[in-house]
Amino acid sequence: CEPNTRAGRMMVLVNPLSGRGQAMSLYAGPVQRLLTDAAVPHALIVTEHQNHARELVRSADLSECSALVILSGDGLLFEVINGLMEREDWEQAILTPLAILPGGSGNALAASVADPVWGVELLLSCGFLLCKGLVRPLDVLSLRLSSGLRLFSFLSIAWGFIADVDIESERYRYMGAVRFVVGALIRLASFRTYQGRLAFLPTPGDSSTLSLPRPHPEEHGPPDDLLAPLGEPVPADWTVVEEQDFVLVLATSHSHLAEDLVAAPSAGPADGHIHLLYVRAGVSRVALLKLFVAMEKGTHLACECPHLVYRRVRALRLEPATSPGVITVDGEQAEYGPLQAQVHRGYARLISG
Ligand code: ADP
Ligand code: MG
Repeated sequence: CEPNTRAGRMMVLVNPLSGRGQAMSLYAGPVQRLLTDAAVPHALIVTEHQNHARELVRSADLSECSALVILSGDGLLFEVINGLMEREDWEQAILTPLAILPGGSGNALAASVADPVWGVELLLSCGFLLCKGLVRPLDVLSLRLSSGLRLFSFLSIAWGFIADVDIESERYRYMGAVRFVVGALIRLASFRTYQGRLAFLPTPGDSSTLSLPRPHPEEHGPPDDLLAPLGEPVPADWTVVEEQDFVLVLATSHSHLAEDLVAAPSAGPADGHIHLLYVRAGVSRVALLKLFVAMEKGTHLACECPHLVYRRVRALRLEPATSPGVITVDGEQAEYGPLQAQVHRGYARLISG
């Protein structure tokens, strides 16, 4: 950790519709009080539509911005990181310190950073870390989709059960975080499997670094030296998963998937790992439910469920065969189809001392 030495004001981005729609009152109440008491100069920006933050960040003058603070769920930070990477000065821009204040229904990063507190306490913990202002590196995943689109993710890639629950539970948004529990129970009732292929580069896998040509000079972002083009076979030192029937695939960079779901207990914000979990078809409903209950405490890996596999990897490729379907990236619905990703260790900066 290092103190944030950047001059200027913090830009506080609020999504007024995140969570149960309470983010503005969180700002007007505890957040503003905290920032004022700590004499942290800041400017408030309320987003007006989806991708508004992404557009703002893409063109903002960052020279007067000491940090970008997201008061929302994880989705708004996903917008901000991608907005930073879309700038001409992406190499500098992605070093802008980022901070999260939980205001959404999915607050995975906040929960990972400030564990083990909940609700208002989680907000206050994150607010305290923000005022303390210590900056540390944050892993970023570079994602390649079959359309050629490149995305950046700080949190997760999900397919199958978890992705379906995340998107289907949108309609219970008024419930706050409870929407995921309700969504999971409904999905369990119409439990299904998903067909596709999965491959990954286990950690450590430094030997496999491909000497691919440098990426297109106009492309933004670091070169993905571990990925062979989609459509070509994965490099020889990758592991190709034998099974092609899954209940879920989850790749996460952080410990928490939600405030009360600890998917990868050992994950750290810049550990350089993608924590890959998948559940093979054949698991019973009861066993799956038990896994999720154990995940509340992060003890699911000790359940010895023969269908659950956990690996630390540096890159992965997922090629769904089931269609249509849902893939989420950082909780946001992404284009459905083959994708691959690799981690870029400590590529961004997070205020989370
Ligand atoms: P939550 O955790 O409640 O889902 P998010 O921060 O993930 O909160 O935001 C949910 C979605 O809302 C994201 O897709 C984000 O891009 C989008 N969004 C951001 N600002 C607005 C806005 N003003 N109106 C509508 N959608 C928005
Ligand atoms: Mg979200």
